[in-house]
Amino acid sequence: MQYPLDKAESGSYFFFMIFLKHADLDELLDSLSGDYHVYVPVNTARGAGYTRYRGPGTDYAVGGIRSFDPLKSFYFLGREKVAEDFKPDIPRKNDKPPCMVGVKSCDLKGFKILDFVFIDEEFGDPTYMKARRDGLIISSDCTAVGENCFCTAVNLNPWPDSQFDINLSPVDGGFVVELGSGKGKKLVEEYSLLFRNVEDVKLDGAVKENRKAVKKEVEVRVAEKNIPAYRRLERIVTKQYENMEVWEESSRNCVECGACNTVCPTCHCFLLYEQKTDDKFARFRVWDSCMIKDFARVAGGENPRARLWMRLRNRFDKKFNYFPEVAGEIACTGCGRCIAACPGKIDIREVLARLEV
Ligand code: SF4
Ligand code: SF4
Repeated sequence: MQYPLDKAESGSYFFFMIFLKHADLDELLDSLSGDYHVYVPVNTARGAGYTRYRGPGTDYAVGGIRSFDPLKSFYFLGREKVAEDFKPDIPRKNDKPPCMVGVKSCDLKGFKILDFVFIDEEFGDPTYMKARRDGLIISSDCTAVGENCFCTAVNLNPWPDSQFDINLSPVDGGFVVELGSGKGKKLVEEYSLLFRNVEDVKLDGAVKENRKAVKKEVEVRVAEKNIPAYRRLERIVTKQYENMEVWEESSRNCVECGACNTVCPTCHCFLLYEQKTDDKFARFRVWDSCMIKDFARVAGGENPRARLWMRLRNRFDKKFNYFPEVAGEIACTGCGRCIAACPGKIDIREVLARLEV
């Protein structure tokens, strides 16, 4: 956050910070729109959601809480043509990479799982890898707490600490800027007239104060919901795998809509199907959901997860057991989107609390 500028005679250090004014962010986004599809968070009746940046009149708000649409939807599209005429190289119109603005810490953690699944030299997903390689992430601290947020329970802070190019911490009049990558550093150098170096310890204090207050509020909510401590979450599903009472009761109201999967920033399962379009055969990839009955059905009609409780248990097993084992990460970011989206009122926090017996 701070960069030592000079050493005073007294032995203390002066610090400078990088500061970006609100109006200068508009100018930056205007300019970036030439090379990227720029998406900004806007306040809607459903909460914060992303929209395309359409110039200085765009009424967006950096800060606040995470958007209702998960970040993955800009990198791993809900439906995408992946081959045409039996060839994987499809000419694409206007396929600028995404520049995502105001991304929150919980969504950035989602990349750790998606990168593990989709990035591979031989078998990786070309669209995802291109968007990750060429895209730009301008993240931001959370300045509020959503009613379903529980990021601190999964060992995250409500401010980004990695996976961003530059991070914006909202303060009066603009943002304190933190560099997160070589691409971010280059951006700040290229637009050095907009990014100013300032010596102001009050700015640092304001950032720390906001972070402390937001984190405390999340922690209070986590404590109210009795979510097990992080070090116990990784083993919790393994230990309670045969606890039928919890799995059956927790899954009872599931209507198999798949919403919990589609809004989740770490869920990544997909289905491939063929369709005839313009006298050609095309192959499409669409998001799939492990909560839907036919997800695991195999040829011959056998289904290893034919019952609702089996599918809910599998979902928790993947998030709290499988991914910690194979990728070293719990595949839940505490974003709370699945809680907000579930018509059956199934609350992941309550299921985790029930598993802690
Ligand atoms: S499981 Fe729910 S709370 Fe966890 S990352 Fe997915 S949507 Fe967010
Ligand atoms: S959102 Fe709720 S009802 Fe829909 S599939 Fe997920 S758990 Fe079931």
